[in-house]
Parts: sequence; C-alpha cells; structure tokens
Amino acid sequence: MKKNVVIFNRLAQDLIERLAANFNVVQLSAASELADALAAGPVHGLIGAGWQLGRPQLAAASGLEVVSSISVGYDNYDLDYLNERGVLLTNTPDVLTETTADLGMTLMLTAARRIVELDGWMREGNWRGGLGPEYFGCDVHGKTLGIIGLGNIGAAIARRGHFGFGMPVLYTSNSRKPELEQELGAEFRDLDDLLGEADFVCVVVPLSERTRKLIGQRELALMKSSAILVNIARGPVVDEAALVEALRDGQIRAAGLDVYEQEPLSESPLFALPNLVCVPHIGSATHETRRVMAELAVQNLERALLGQTPRHMVNPQVRTG
Ligand code: NAP
Repeated sequence: MKKNVVIFNRLAQDLIERLAANFNVVQLSAASELADALAAGPVHGLIGAGWQLGRPQLAAASGLEVVSSISVGYDNYDLDYLNERGVLLTNTPDVLTETTADLGMTLMLTAARRIVELDGWMREGNWRGGLGPEYFGCDVHGKTLGIIGLGNIGAAIARRGHFGFGMPVLYTSNSRKPELEQELGAEFRDLDDLLGEADFVCVVVPLSERTRKLIGQRELALMKSSAILVNIARGPVVDEAALVEALRDGQIRAAGLDVYEQEPLSESPLFALPNLVCVPHIGSATHETRRVMAELAVQNLERALLGQTPRHMVNPQVRTG
C-alpha cells in the first residue's frame, strides 16, 4: 500500500507528480490546514520549508517517519521532539551554498555603496548636479572581512572576499579551520576581537540556544563605527532592537539583512533606516537553486520512505536507535 505524504508549502507540479508515483500526496497551502491533514489518517512523510513544526503541530500525527526540509537550516523544527518520536529529519545543505554566499556579498556591496538609497534618490528626480561626499559610500576591496561561522556558506563568502576583493579574512567558529586558514590566509579570532577588527562582519551561524542574540548591544558597541554588519543566518542571531539603535545612532555605518526575528515582516522600525538594506529571506531564492533544493528534498523523502538512505540526515541516529 502506498504511504501518505503531505507537502507543506509549494512544490513544482512535476515534483508533485514524481511523488505521486510512489505515494498518496496532499498539498497544503496554509499552516492552518495541517491539523486536518494529520487528523485524516496516518501521514508517513512531510516535505516543505519554513513552517514551525514541533510538538503542538505534530502531536496528532500518526505513522510519521520523515520530515524532509527544503532548507539547510532546521531551527524551525523541534529536533528533540522529532528524536523522541523517532522521526527522521532530512535537509538540503551544500546545493545552496554558493547562491547564499552570492547574496551575502551582494548585501555587503549594496550597503557599502548605498545602492538602494541612491537608487531611490535618483528615481525621485534628485540628481540635478554633482554628488558631494554626503552621498559617497565606502570601499569593499581590501577591507577586512570578519566571518562569524566559517562553515560551508561562510567559507564561500570568505573565498569571494579573499580572491575577488583582496580582503583579509578573520573568522570565528566552534573549531579552527586549518585548511581554510591555509587556502585563504584566514585568521581565527575570538568573537570580541573579530568584531573590533573587521570592516565587514558577516553572520552565518545556525540558530541555536547558543547563537540566539549572539550579536546584541554589547557586541554592536565593539564594532567599528565605520563597519557594516550583514546577517544571512537567522534573524534571532542578531538582537534587532539593538541593531536599530546602533544604526540610528551611527554606532555602525550600515547593515544588510536577509533574515529577521519575525518572518514575514511587513512593518518594522528597520524600514525607516536609510543605512539598512533589507531583502525578504532570499538567500537561496534563485530559480536554479530552489529547483535543485526541491529535487534533493524529494529524493531524501523518497529514500527515507522506500527503505533507502537519504543523502542528508540531520538525526540519522533515529534510524539505528
Ligand atoms: P554549516 O556548514 O554547518 O556552517 C555553520 C558554521 O557555524 C560552522 O562553521 C560552525 O562551526 C559555526 N558555528 C556554529 N555555532 C557557532 C557559534 N556558537 N559560534 C561561532 N560559530 C558557530 O552551515 P551552512 O550551510 O554554512 O549554513 C549556515 C546557516 O546559514 C544555516 O544554519 C542557516 O540557518 C543559514 N542559511 C540561511 C539562508 C538564507 O536564506 N538566508 C540560506 C542557507 C543557510 P564549526 O564548523 O566549528 O562547528
């Protein structure tokens, strides 16, 4: 008998059809539909992205074997709860690394050269004469790049900075990265020293209880007043209220954000700040990369439900335990 799969969020039609060849498939369009879908009978697999899935959402699920996330980050799932229930969680690392690194670089460049601000200024018809220094930005090339979390994406940004822009690279991570130190001349710093030395600080750590509000008022105060902060990790890693203050008071020069404490975000004091560049969580959002992520997540789900080994398992121990 075919197993049952629920798709939360969007999936391309041909991938839905591919799943339907092996499974009974239901696609949901809103989180409010999940409870009814789970109550309707056993759901063996869930696939999607971005929904909060923990005990309150999944308690009614019976027969659940796997949650296949179309993302690398998995902070929106209650991993302890999934472990307790023996539910496998799979994710899609690696395939989004370069695309997300492109966005990190874009936010650095855009904030440094005030692209969004000056684009708006020009469209309003303000360009009538020469531009004075009040409209100047700051250089990126040759400046010191500080990476918080030198994992896959952090290293890809560091490569762009080092090889493309001649930037000396500093980093902090749980562990030293001798190969990247060799390849990029990257130097390890503890967090406080990195914040004090870097001209661009790029945050690329997973969200966990250890990294929640890793960058707060104290850390922002350690940064140079000329420095730029970029967060492409998860919103709660940076204390947003403290960041608003720091940007408003000129404690740091500018910031580029892809992620926010609350998502989606349609109103925020951030929006009033000219020295902030913000985009709506688009780190991996290119046609090419979202497609590859979805294909990988479908494959992870198929393998988990058909008795094979998925390529990327967050908690593989539940299969052996
Ligand atoms: P990764 O390869 O696992 O890298 C994470 C890095 O963070 C590792 O180097 C790790 O150090 C380091 N780290 C973890 N906790 C730390 C701490 N407390 N202090 C300092 N460093 C710490 O993951 P990735 O693929 O690069 O992705 C990183 C995160 O980016 C994801 O978890 C996700 O939340 C976010 N992301 C966002 C988007 C987006 O759309 N904006 C897209 C993709 C990913 P060790 O190696 O020493 O353990």
